[in-house]
Amino acid sequence: MRGFKSFADKTVVEFKQGVTCVVGPNGSGKSNITDAVRWVLGEQRIKTLRGSKMEDVIFNGTKHRKSLGLAEVKLVFDNVDHFFPLEYNEISVTRRVHRSGESEYQINGMPCRLKDIRELFMDTGIGREGYSIIGQGRIDEILSSNKDERRMLFEEAAGIIKYKSRKEESERK
Ligand code: ATP
Ligand code: MG
Repeated sequence: MRGFKSFADKTVVEFKQGVTCVVGPNGSGKSNITDAVRWVLGEQRIKTLRGSKMEDVIFNGTKHRKSLGLAEVKLVFDNVDHFFPLEYNEISVTRRVHRSGESEYQINGMPCRLKDIRELFMDTGIGREGYSIIGQGRIDEILSSNKDERRMLFEEAAGIIKYKSRKEESERK
């Protein structure tokens, strides 16, 4: 992360095998780490990121420090086992947003569309709609969701969303 929310300076968080636990006082930025992960995976709903406009993810300064003009998050996956169907042993996704509103996405340093990022993670359980991030209140939401919403969750878990969305896309054309 760099310039993302409270992380003005480049901050690297390593998720090794097993459990990673983030501990710190209230307001120290623990939740900002999960916001960064959601954001780089393509989250567009600013409310989910606890802001009111996309600009709110950019470091907005403190008493001692000027605000920044760019937020950047890069998520790097070990792909030695080729979990992602790409030839690379490492897959990175990057998202940047400038205060001007200009934004960009990259996969392994190559500019791409948000759609490409969505497709890469679809049905992996990792994506924006995945169940890998369970936010506060989400359990309640799942338990009280209607049958269609709950079905979506099972479809994502079963790995068929990708085909459904491609089918819908081709039907629109
Ligand atoms: P809690 O234990 O209460 O859940 P937390 O460790 O999860 O706290 P976060 O919610 O991750 O804390 O961080 C909140 C902090 O991030 C606040 O101090 C807020 O000022 C800061 N923050 C949020 N957005 C920005 C921004 N754009 N620029 C600078 N600081 C920001
Ligand atoms: Mg928190």
